[in-house]
Amino acid sequence: MTAPLKLSQQTVSQLAGRLCRREVSAREVLVGCLEQIQRVDGRIHAFISYDAADAMAQAEAADKALAAGVTHREKPLLGIPVGIKDVIAVRDQPLNCGSKILGQFISPYSATVIEKLKAAGAVVFGRLNMDEFAMGSSTENSAFGVTRNPWDLTRTPGGSSGGSAAAVAAGECIASLGSDTGGSIRQPAALCGCIGFKPTYGRVSRYGLTAFASSLDQIGPFAREVRDVATVLGVISGHDPRDSTSVPVPVPDYGAALQNPIKGLKLGLPKEYMIGGLNAEVSAAVQAAVKQFEKLGAEMVEVSLPHTDYAVAVYYIVATAEASANLARFDGIRYGARVDGVDPTDLYCKTRGAGFGAEVKRRIILGAYVLSSGYHDAYYLRAQKVRTLIRRDFLEAFEKVDAIITPTSPTAAFKIGEKTDNPLQMYLSDIFTISCNLAGICGLSLPCGFTASPKLPIGLQLLGKPFGEETILQLAHAYEQSTAWHKELPPETTG
Ligand code: GLN
Repeated sequence: MTAPLKLSQQTVSQLAGRLCRREVSAREVLVGCLEQIQRVDGRIHAFISYDAADAMAQAEAADKALAAGVTHREKPLLGIPVGIKDVIAVRDQPLNCGSKILGQFISPYSATVIEKLKAAGAVVFGRLNMDEFAMGSSTENSAFGVTRNPWDLTRTPGGSSGGSAAAVAAGECIASLGSDTGGSIRQPAALCGCIGFKPTYGRVSRYGLTAFASSLDQIGPFAREVRDVATVLGVISGHDPRDSTSVPVPVPDYGAALQNPIKGLKLGLPKEYMIGGLNAEVSAAVQAAVKQFEKLGAEMVEVSLPHTDYAVAVYYIVATAEASANLARFDGIRYGARVDGVDPTDLYCKTRGAGFGAEVKRRIILGAYVLSSGYHDAYYLRAQKVRTLIRRDFLEAFEKVDAIITPTSPTAAFKIGEKTDNPLQMYLSDIFTISCNLAGICGLSLPCGFTASPKLPIGLQLLGKPFGEETILQLAHAYEQSTAWHKELPPETTG
């Protein structure tokens, strides 16, 4: 007999039902999360900090609304605790972006996604750990210490949204938000065995998301079931006049889309993705998932994404170029920490020298280099041209197929420290996730198996057309409901 799930391990849809029937209160659900944090977060360290009193006030407000008869039809996240990556602004809460450079900074305003979560009744709480300014794939580049994978404490949870993935996997919150510039939602979701969705560029407002690479960044949800991801995505999506890159297209009813049958949908298998570094167990799990989709009535089609080989190089030019410009604002004058100097230049140098970690400095230097006169055309301009070719590859493939299926990450969770000395090795682990951001399309990762020993989750990636979120959710839901991978609990969360 398996032990019954704790409150904090249940899904949004289960809890919504129970809250509505008044079987549990929002207060009890929050207490469940706080107790789980007490129990496991000393080892996992998904949270940088959390404000229990503020969260409790929100939960009590949710209980009042429930008592007054407000339903989850009106407020889909009423009473549901949702954790937030430390790169998204929440009014009156710390905003550090995993960095020392922001010092004691408290955000004076909330991101649009936070306002939307609160309007939907969510209990928004916690600052979830991340690689500094979202630069990394392992959550080891945080000024607040490493986050550990709930499946194996000697391994990373992936990154940069490692705290968001680990907290959901470990049952410390019911859902969470992360950000994805080159895989930072999908890769940690894969490595922690939960579901993560990077929406189409422009689907979700970036207002209040600290910019890393503005043409690639997108906020998205983590949860333990596809239905929950659909619910949170529906809440945070939509046009926002405060983000000029958000697109004014209507938001579909993502929950309703889950019911649509997947029979007859065409799934593309990119031939360029069967690379040498792909781990054999990951490859076998993805092939088994392909078979499962065929059983469910989907049709497999081979597709070609011929510019895949250039994706990592293009990404590390475009992303670092944009980062070097975006991070110029952290100068010791406008925000956070300051190290005084004899003149303003000295102050900038000292503040930035002391405030940024090694990886952020590496990216700023790379980015300034590729943008400098003499190199701009050879690197930045050329990378932008290849980026267009990468997008074109996808749009052509999507003329033949409804979605593309790939592994999320070439390996399961790697050891803490394994790749920190070799940045290139770390960058290569993003091979399957990066193109999606360059092309501006949407992508989801969901569990599709485990490695044998040690037992570590394996993630399957589904890539969709621009604003094709419904199809991806529909496919992911059908697969999930026909398998049991997502029901497995990491050892660190029990007891
Ligand atoms: N791992 C990639 C990087 O280091 C992607 C990060 C992200 O998506 N924020 O840049």
